[in-house]
Order: sequence, then C-alpha cells, then structure tokens
Amino acid sequence: RRTERNIAAQVKNRLPQAMLDLLKAAGDLGQELGWEVYAVGGFVRDILLGRPNLDLDLVVEGDGILFARKFAEKLGGRVKAHTKFKTAVVILDDGRRVDVATARLEYYEYPAALPTVELSSIKMDLYRRDFTVNALALRINPGRFGQLVDFFGAERDIRNRTIRVLHSLSFVEDPTRILRAIRFERRFDFQIGGQTMRLIKNALNLELFSKLSGTRVMHELQWIMNEEDPLACLMRMEELGIMEAIHPLLKLSRDRVQVLTELVKVHNWYKLLYLEHEITPWKLYVLGMTMGIKRDQIQKITQRLHFTRREEREFLQLRDMIGDALMKLMGWREGRSKLSRLYSILHPIPVEGILFLMARSRKEHIRRNISQYLSRLRYLTIEVNGNDLEEMGIEPGPIYTRILSRLTDAMIDGRATTRKKQLKLAQKLHKDLSSHEEDSE
Ligand code: ATP
Repeated sequence: RRTERNIAAQVKNRLPQAMLDLLKAAGDLGQELGWEVYAVGGFVRDILLGRPNLDLDLVVEGDGILFARKFAEKLGGRVKAHTKFKTAVVILDDGRRVDVATARLEYYEYPAALPTVELSSIKMDLYRRDFTVNALALRINPGRFGQLVDFFGAERDIRNRTIRVLHSLSFVEDPTRILRAIRFERRFDFQIGGQTMRLIKNALNLELFSKLSGTRVMHELQWIMNEEDPLACLMRMEELGIMEAIHPLLKLSRDRVQVLTELVKVHNWYKLLYLEHEITPWKLYVLGMTMGIKRDQIQKITQRLHFTRREEREFLQLRDMIGDALMKLMGWREGRSKLSRLYSILHPIPVEGILFLMARSRKEHIRRNISQYLSRLRYLTIEVNGNDLEEMGIEPGPIYTRILSRLTDAMIDGRATTRKKQLKLAQKLHKDLSSHEEDSE
C-alpha cells in the first residue's frame, strides 16, 4: 500500500484561516455523510508550490450534488447543480465559490479475457486529468486531514519542476492540453518532460491541432492571455509551430513580438495603476498577434478562432478605430494642439485599443499624453445635461449632442470648469448654433 505523506502542517501554514475553516467544515460534513472528501487539482498543487490559490475544488466519493446542498445549508449559500455531470458549485453568502464533483466507483473491462478491475474512484477521477502536477488530492476528513494522495508521482514532478502527462494518449484525447502544458510550464517556470514533449510533437505531426475547433483554441488562448506573461507562452507556441498550426497568418513575426513585448509592459502598468478597471486581455493581445494582417484577410482569423458575429464586428471596428487614431495622433502636437482634440481622438476607443495605441507609439510625448487621458481626462464629465438644456427652453433635438460635446471640449480645455460657467456657455452655444443654422438655410 502506498504511504500517504501528511502535509497538514504546510496546509495550515500556507492557507488563510478562513480557507482552513472551509476545508474543515467540508471534511466534517463528509464524515457525517459517510463519504470521503478530497481537495484536488490546482488547489493542492499550489499548496506544495507555496502559491496562493483560493479556488477550492472538492471531489466527493459519494453524491457530490447532495454534498453541495448540505454544505450550502450548513454554511449559508446557494447551489448550482449540473445533474448530467454530477457536479455543483456552492456559492457562499460571502461570495466565495466551491466546486464539487462526484467520483464514483467504476468498473473497467479490459480487452479479451482479462478480468474486470475495480479502481478506487478518486484514482479514476485523478487519472482523467491533464498533468501529474494537477492530479493530486488532499484528504480533509477528520482523522485523515492533510494526507496527500499521489498515485502518479506528482510530488516528484513538482520537485523536479516537470510537466508530465499521465498516459501516452493524453494529447490525442484532448489536444488543448498542449496549450495547457505550455501555460503551466511558463507560469511556474517548469519544463515539459522529455516523453511529454515527444507526445506533443507527435500530436502536432498528426495535425491534431489544425483540426481543433476555433472555440476550443480561443478558450485556451484566453486563459493564456490572462497569465502574467502571455508572450512567453505565445513564443513557446511559435517555437513548436503551434501558431502556424492554428493559422498560417498567425506566425509570430519579430514585429509582432516587439509589439507584444510592449503590450505586456503597458498591460502590467495599467493593472498596477487601475486595479478597479477590468480590461479584457485577449482583446489587447489579439490586436498584437494579428498586427500587419490586411483588412481583407483578418476575417480568416476571426473565423478560425470562431469569434461570434458581435466579437468579430467589435474587433474589426476596434482595428479601424486604432488605425484612424494613429493617423490623427501623428498630427497632434503637445502644447500646440488642444487637449479636447486628444480627448475626441481617444474617447470613442475602448481601453484595450488605447493601451494598444500606447504600446505602438514610439514617441514619448504621445505615450505621456495617452497616459494623461487615462489618468484624468477620461473621467471628466460636464455638470450640465439634457434636462438643463430643456429647462433653458431649448427644443430637444440633435442640437443637444452638439451643445453637450462642445461643453465637454470647453471644460477639457479649462474654459468652463464649473456648472455655472457651463450653463452660461450652453446659452451662448445655443444662440450661436441656431443662428448659424438659420444662416445656412
Ligand atoms: P489554474 O491555476 O489556471 O486555475 P487549475 O489547475 O485550477 O489551474 P483549471 O483550468 O481550473 O486549472 O482546471 C481545474 C482542474 O481540472 C485542473 O487541475 C485539471 O486537473 C483539470 N483539467 C482542466 N482542464 C483539463 C483538460 N483539458 N484535460 C484534463 N484535465 C483538465
């Protein structure tokens, strides 16, 4: 029998008290119901690596959905169950989420006359996973709390910093694991093991990748773009010929690497300064990955990656807006051009596009001014609205947009910084604009 190392001490040292309480509560409930409960996957891996990870995945040798319901009752929360997969998510009242899966005893019929084997259910559950480092389980029932269940040499692989699949058909079963291997390798600064690398190359030779659906490729690409250093993953993909396997137009040229390098810097800068502003990283990085592709070719990529109609439309629009803004920014002169001009160039563009412009601009003053737009200008709003104009007796119509936009320009250029001044200017603009309209009639 395998000995199970007990890592309760590490678990207690490395997890916050609230998480420990949650684990204990889950283990106690398992005990009450007579089921073995395990924490599994990335959560356990990251305890051994000493990296914070609060995404708790549980596997129950029993009925996972019933377990989830009782758990939510006990701690206060609700449950979303997927009966088909026998999985559930517990959403606690404080917002924390716990994923619960069911492991059942399964019988495997071996070919020919060999006997049917019964495998412990947690072992089967772990065997279906992608890499050894993700195929660890931690017992949490009282009395066994902290025992590490490691059937496949995961601890050794973590120690040797190796990404290794569990069996040789792994990538044939699911080629997206190739991208996952790269992602974990770069994130932890591990190495894909020798045999595993040979299996990746085999899978690529069999062109498994080119047959992979755009939706699945895009899904994995999105995970990559959410990593700390997406470029490291993309470069590894290029090295293995995966970018071209996805689509020949995606080959990572030196120009693209250069822009992507800047994009990573700008993105990190933005994350640091504007914690509260979410951006969608893939929108930023796909701009870099597709740089230089002509307008009439770009749909080959959006179709290969299975963008929705709406994503495609927005992406094409974004590219056009960026092209347009790049031209206009070339004519913008610090000190001579108005800030309101900068504002009107940048304001229609989603933040991913603005960060792209920043990364693309070699001129220091343009970067500085885009930064000024992000830190200050974009938040400015005038203190006058349509209701105010109506109260002034101005007939509602397209003139409202024109007045309000001119007020915004004036405020940005420092000419009408208070509500009072803005109201006064609105009166004047109304007069000017309507007399101008009469003139032109
Ligand atoms: P992360 O730190 O990125 O969240 P994770 O290991 O938690 O990493 P998830 O993508 O959340 O990864 O997946 C949870 C678990 O499900 C993984 O630990 C892995 O064991 C398993 N898994 C996910 N995707 C696959 C796959 N394509 N094939 C096999 N197992 C997978």
